[in-house]
Amino acid sequence: MNKKKLVAISAPSGGGKSVVTRHILNKFPDVIFSVSATTRQRRPNEVDGKDYFFLTKEKFEELIAQNQLIEWEELFGNYYGTLKSEVQKAINKNKIMLFDIDVKGALSLKKHFPNDTLLIFLAPPSKEVLIERLKKRGTESEEQLKNRLARAELEISMSKEFDQIIVNDILEETLQKVEQVFIENCQ
Ligand code: ADP
Ligand code: 5GP
Repeated sequence: MNKKKLVAISAPSGGGKSVVTRHILNKFPDVIFSVSATTRQRRPNEVDGKDYFFLTKEKFEELIAQNQLIEWEELFGNYYGTLKSEVQKAINKNKIMLFDIDVKGALSLKKHFPNDTLLIFLAPPSKEVLIERLKKRGTESEEQLKNRLARAELEISMSKEFDQIIVNDILEETLQKVEQVFIENCQ
């Protein structure tokens, strides 16, 4: 089987992408993270250039005009996009690259690199649990929370096209399952 070099982790907002991504990066130190560009505000625990490249709307639109993004989306009132230069980094270093991107971005990535891409979707055990986790994270206003939940159904319906769907119920089990998928498909 062809080993996959580009691995996208998608889920509705609050679905566990950040937790799973952090775990995989710790567990497999050779894997590199695709740092996306975004115009959203930095959260207190986030580091510019590590979690995202935090850009102004003008700068982001310049990247679009210069064709420097593989894909981009407008989500929850902000731009998010994958930089060509990030993927080039993985290719140059011959490394596996991990992406924390939304479902549409993940599907575009697969369209660009059909043989090299593995798509993993983290499904919430229920809508109620998703709401609870998002609220507990406490990073969104009531309005932002509503927008994020409204999009969750579309995202879940699009997950049918993913290679692997993992229900993120017990975190420890989820991390183990993602690790296993990683070992089987990428190593
Ligand atoms: P995303 O990056 O997809 O928006 P996060 O990784 O930030 O989601 O997870 C949202 C919140 O839910 C975080 O506070 C995280 O610690 C918590 N969380 C994620 N998965 C689980 C789980 N299986 N059980 C309990 N809490 C979880
Ligand atoms: P957050 O604001 O919670 O960090 O991310 C919001 C959504 O944007 C998440 O679904 C996240 O995966 C997605 N996202 C982050 N970076 C990118 C990207 O480069 N492209 C796309 N399409 N989505 C992204």
